[in-house]
Amino acid sequence: MLSIRERVQAILKELPSGVSLVVASKGRHPEEIIEAIKAGAKIIGENYLQEAERKKEKIPFKVKWHFIGNLQKNKAKKIIELFDVIESLSSLELAEVLNNQARKQNKLMPVFLEVNSAGEEQKKGFLPQEVEEAAEYVFNKSNLRLEGLMTMGPFLNDIESIRPFFRKTRELFFKIKQRYAREYFQYLSMGMSDTYKIGIEEGANIVRIGRKIFSS
Ligand SMILES: *Cc1c(COP(=O)(O)O)cnc(C)c1O
Repeated sequence: MLSIRERVQAILKELPSGVSLVVASKGRHPEEIIEAIKAGAKIIGENYLQEAERKKEKIPFKVKWHFIGNLQKNKAKKIIELFDVIESLSSLELAEVLNNQARKQNKLMPVFLEVNSAGEEQKKGFLPQEVEEAAEYVFNKSNLRLEGLMTMGPFLNDIESIRPFFRKTRELFFKIKQRYAREYFQYLSMGMSDTYKIGIEEGANIVRIGRKIFSS
């Protein structure tokens, strides 16, 4: 059985240059995350505020923290304090709340829009047809910096069937890039343990991997 260290090293070796690894760490112990960091991981992804607060105290390493979970308005203040990037901005209302909180903290908060690329009822995020307008809205917020798009895509038995949803998200990414020409709009976060290779083939430059690193 491979160690966390060996798995992280294998993934980092495999990623093309220009593609970053977010270690999706929900439910993992600080010691496990530290092992991933010692193997070269630079970005930690967390889904839950309280869990991240607890872990951050025990992980005194210079890494970046990405929020990848369900955003809630009443947690906006703390999330802005704690995280370097919010990948899961999923509504205009949340953008408003985050912007107000970021302004109070005198912080320019990097965010990605979460795209509900398959238009699933139960999923958070902007529908593909809403994304461009949402981007314009967020570009106009003084204390948010829209740096990219993130999508989960649907859970499917056949891994390959996720490809059209990644492709759709990449198309939206390039449309926004061309239309608004902001040099800091540069990240496309797509792909998890089962799907990151397809994500990369479809243009992702961030992949978020959990189980492949931590589960045996
Ligand atoms: C858990 C999670 C991941 C990682 O998924 P794995 O299948 O464990 O690799 C990626 N993105 C988000 C938003 C997650 O919640």
